[in-house]
Amino acid sequence: MKRLAILGSTGSIGQSTLSIVEQFPDRYQVASLAAGRNLDEAFAQAVRWRPQVVSLATEELAAQLSSRLKAAGVSGIEVVYGTAGTVACSTLPDADFVVSAIVGVSGLEATHAAILAGKPIGLANKECMVAAGEILTAAARERNVPILPIDSEHNAVHQCLRVGAHSEVKTIWLTASGGPFRELPLAQFATITPAQALKHPTWVMGRRITIDSATMLNKGLEVIEACRLFDVPPSQVRVTVHPQSTVHSLVEYVDGSILAQISVTDMRLPILYALAWPERPASTLTFDLAALRHLDFEPPDLERFPCLRLAFEAAEKGGSHCIALNAADEVAVEAFLEGRSTFMGIPRTIEQVLASTPEAHPATIAEVLAADREARLTASALLA
Ligand code: MG
Repeated sequence: MKRLAILGSTGSIGQSTLSIVEQFPDRYQVASLAAGRNLDEAFAQAVRWRPQVVSLATEELAAQLSSRLKAAGVSGIEVVYGTAGTVACSTLPDADFVVSAIVGVSGLEATHAAILAGKPIGLANKECMVAAGEILTAAARERNVPILPIDSEHNAVHQCLRVGAHSEVKTIWLTASGGPFRELPLAQFATITPAQALKHPTWVMGRRITIDSATMLNKGLEVIEACRLFDVPPSQVRVTVHPQSTVHSLVEYVDGSILAQISVTDMRLPILYALAWPERPASTLTFDLAALRHLDFEPPDLERFPCLRLAFEAAEKGGSHCIALNAADEVAVEAFLEGRSTFMGIPRTIEQVLASTPEAHPATIAEVLAADREARLTASALLA
């Protein structure tokens, strides 16, 4: 029986994780939930799963949850809040696996603390790897803590890497759906609206990641994530646009063999893989290969999707540049969604922030967060 700490339990990955727990009650239990700001959902989850600890974003929300649980006659659940609360969830002695699915860098400290506490990680939070991957992977290697990627592409790569040695890997190929503007001519990019950008062809996801898919910055973050998770330089990671999102990624070996992972487009599968690794439990998440007719691949267009080029440049520099890339993008996406920036203003802002970011390699989480704040301030000033 694995007892799970789920960080980001009310988000889409958190909810999918709970649906896996529901399907495999003999394998998984909920030990703690970090729920953020969604009080109603946190209450429902606490009542349903009876974790030892629930964490909310603020003291006020925590107090409201406590009184609602009391009124409902539910006792024995400790309610905590803030970063310290998330860390309490991720380091709970009774938790033996941590699902890290808080969007953005707010899950960073809790994920790092979990690694230091020796807990295996199922990582859905790519910003953690982009901002602090150098620190997190070093800590994990030192303690022999597995980090199992839940991001579908990296999960596919993890699976393809199981058949060969690290020294036999030539190229990691990440597939990209290409987003809603895969075929849009460059001339029309200037007038893209948030409503158009929020329509993703294959995946239903949160707002920031949907915009990041439309700009392909998401794929850029995944390139950096792949470099850190699989210990390869950016020159060994390539992107191929694959509109069907059927092949989730591929690994090319030095002998010329290319291995691909194909499965249904459903995040519950990578979640189950991460939770169960190194086992493979039988599931109902099947893919009908007999019905498959076409697999299309095309190279990405860096002129229409400059965010991907910027990410490769940041990946080469590492450290502060990866932090700035992620931070500037989050600020610029927010501005785009609020009508304060255009779609192509997103890469423009990122490029300007990167140009003013000194090369540095933060050695602690505090330094990472300081560099993150700095880049956000620069981006906000540029957008003002
Ligand atoms: Mg992905």
